[in-house]
Amino acid sequence: MKIYISGEWFDQENAKISVLDHGLLYGDGVFEGLRAYSGVVFRLQEHLDRLWNSAKGLMIDIPLSKEQMAEAVNKTVAMNEISDGYVRLIVTRGVGTLGLDAHLCKNPQVIIIAAHLALYPKELYETGLDIVTAATVRNNNCALSPQIKSLNYLNNIMAKIEGHLAGCAEALMLNSKGEIAECTGDNIFIVKSGVLSTPGTDSCILEGITRNAVLEIAAELGILCRETSLTRQDVYSADECFLTGSGAELIPVVKVDGRTIGTGKPGEVTKRLHERFHQFTRNNGYATKNP
Ligand code: PMP
Repeated sequence: MKIYISGEWFDQENAKISVLDHGLLYGDGVFEGLRAYSGVVFRLQEHLDRLWNSAKGLMIDIPLSKEQMAEAVNKTVAMNEISDGYVRLIVTRGVGTLGLDAHLCKNPQVIIIAAHLALYPKELYETGLDIVTAATVRNNNCALSPQIKSLNYLNNIMAKIEGHLAGCAEALMLNSKGEIAECTGDNIFIVKSGVLSTPGTDSCILEGITRNAVLEIAAELGILCRETSLTRQDVYSADECFLTGSGAELIPVVKVDGRTIGTGKPGEVTKRLHERFHQFTRNNGYATKNP
């Protein structure tokens, strides 16, 4: 595996960054998780825009232009001969001292890892996930904006651990108002009486690129969709539920907090959306042109 670090490609065993990098010491950095289909990165421009927005929030100056970053990403994908795979793009604040002073970190580091992807097991796409609500609340706007995809994912990691302790592969996170936010690494959708709903950005979510693609597909298929605040009861009483993310794509949920959702099997709207999503990612139909 060839890993890109700030202008050079290294074998995995030589791909190293300093222990004084604030990315390690403080989770001080930003990242993106992207998908490649047939060797082409899906919605690269949107991922770069989100990365730049995250970095702006944290006042990290990304030392490349978006064009240069796109080139480095595409080259890393090609070099590793990734056809269908996953790309992790990281920008750390760089080496500093043991203190918090960000201004001492003069050289943000860029890391790009392209790998084959371990999705959820295939059978879970057919049977659907069983998830639970975590006690750990999603980041809120009074602290670090959930729109910032920072290297500090500890809320989400703790929620994921809670999910695992309950025997579930994913966990649902609420915002500090008790509304549905999203899962630990995926956005959530429900379907009720044919209408698709997903929490809006004011519900303390990361605005997922897959989520937005699914909203576009739903509109194309003539499925009514709303971005709205949702309660746990809305989820429990939904006909269908599914999650979206670059890694997971679109995965059905059939049980939440012990309540069976709909028939307890992946629903028809979920299946239609998944099928269409599969088509257009493979044909790259909806992918915006890489810069
Ligand atoms: N929410 C969170 C918290 C995430 O980390 C992610 C990405 N894994 C998503 C939602 C989904 O975003 P995307 O579709 O852009 O991968």
